[in-house]
Amino acid sequence: MIKYHSLAAINADLQSGKITVTALVNHYLKNIADKKDYNIFLEVFADDALAQAKLIDEKIKNKTAGKLAGAVIALKDNISVKGKKLSASSKILEGYTSLYNATVVERLLAHDAIIIGRTNCDEFAMGSSNENSAFGNVHHPLDESRVPGGSSGGSAAAVAADMCLAALGTDTGGSIRQPASFCGVVGLKPTYGTVSRYGIIAYASSFDQVGPLTHSVADAALILETIAGPDEYDSTLSQKPAQKFSEYTNKNPKYKIAYLRDCLEKDGLDAEIKNKMLATIEQLKADGHELTAVDFPFLDYLVPAYYVLTTAEASSNLSRYDGIRYGYRSKNATDLESTYKKSRSEGFGTEVKRRIMLGTFVLSAGYYDAYYAKGQKVRRLLQNKTLEILNQHQFILLPTTPGTAFKFGENSADPIKMYLEDIFTVQSNLTGIPAISLPLGTHSNGLPYGIQVMANKFDEKNLFAFADYLMQKK
Ligand code: GLN
Repeated sequence: MIKYHSLAAINADLQSGKITVTALVNHYLKNIADKKDYNIFLEVFADDALAQAKLIDEKIKNKTAGKLAGAVIALKDNISVKGKKLSASSKILEGYTSLYNATVVERLLAHDAIIIGRTNCDEFAMGSSNENSAFGNVHHPLDESRVPGGSSGGSAAAVAADMCLAALGTDTGGSIRQPASFCGVVGLKPTYGTVSRYGIIAYASSFDQVGPLTHSVADAALILETIAGPDEYDSTLSQKPAQKFSEYTNKNPKYKIAYLRDCLEKDGLDAEIKNKMLATIEQLKADGHELTAVDFPFLDYLVPAYYVLTTAEASSNLSRYDGIRYGYRSKNATDLESTYKKSRSEGFGTEVKRRIMLGTFVLSAGYYDAYYAKGQKVRRLLQNKTLEILNQHQFILLPTTPGTAFKFGENSADPIKMYLEDIFTVQSNLTGIPAISLPLGTHSNGLPYGIQVMANKFDEKNLFAFADYLMQKK
């Protein structure tokens, strides 16, 4: 079977009878089995997926199939699927089974998507390389010695390796876009407040969003359209009805685009990625768009503000894993306090513990004003400046990552080095705006990399139109 890059192509072949959903699911299952050693999936729902495929094949015959019929989707393992295990790639959720479906899962299923399994990720979505999973590394589909990115590394690798058409990930500071860049797929972080987090394991609640990883912009738009919109179980959502994202049109308007001079001059940005950015800028100018270099003098504040605020939120969100309510409980505990202490010490991995401690510190009475309150002020500053740029320009163009997929161990000994990998992705989470990574580059080392576009809040429809335009020029 060919490698499909869009639901439209799958649909055409389903309609003409060239393939069936069952054959398609079997194709993906075979690819998953063939590359089992890549450790991309934590669990494959083979029987459920095949049973569902049979039903959808019937629906296609009867012309009653939903708009996602033929879309086989993998889920990052922090998204609840009723009756299935859920671990956030952590030992602390050992034995936990979801009692209900996340809203995003309900919505995918309602439109006849098939869920093929849960993918490996960094523990509690904390990381940029997938090396923080309690269940082992995910290998990059093009080079086993390299990381796929993180934290949604399994989701990105699954799409790139043709183990599913699309996947869902979560993005708190780049966890959809960075692995998308490393693996050569499209990754979207929607505007904060677009997609329900009901049934999603929380990391940093004022940042977390769910979004798609796909091959095409059209599929990203269709999946977002399906999962977005108000949900009575998540009060942080915009109450406006979900937009028809898939109906974006690209009538070739002339765009006003900003690019951040400071990003291009940043030490550590790979020279080829920089050149590709400059070439893209020139190309867009030649096509009649207005491109402006703007200053963003706060680049060095992004990563510190992100790590102060997200660790604070994480320390609160992760307090629920106490050895009593769910999952792992230490066998060495002798009383209530040692149950808490030992279960958490043994159940959480090193990076998660580091962040809980850091977050507890920045929230502590003596340091709250110096770190947490200061972090909030810096966030406001960053937001104001970013929105000021977006008031004058429709989009901001920037790299997704400073380099291509790195080797295992290259950054893991030094947390700060790893955190700096997030330099270009955290801005959109700190400010709540949407951002998409597009697989527009191939490095001379053979690895793909992404170019990122950010837009104004709730302006995904135009973002998709522009993204599609860039992809077509590829
Ligand atoms: N790499 C970032 C971090 O470790 C982003 C994680 C994410 O978006 N979930 O926090």
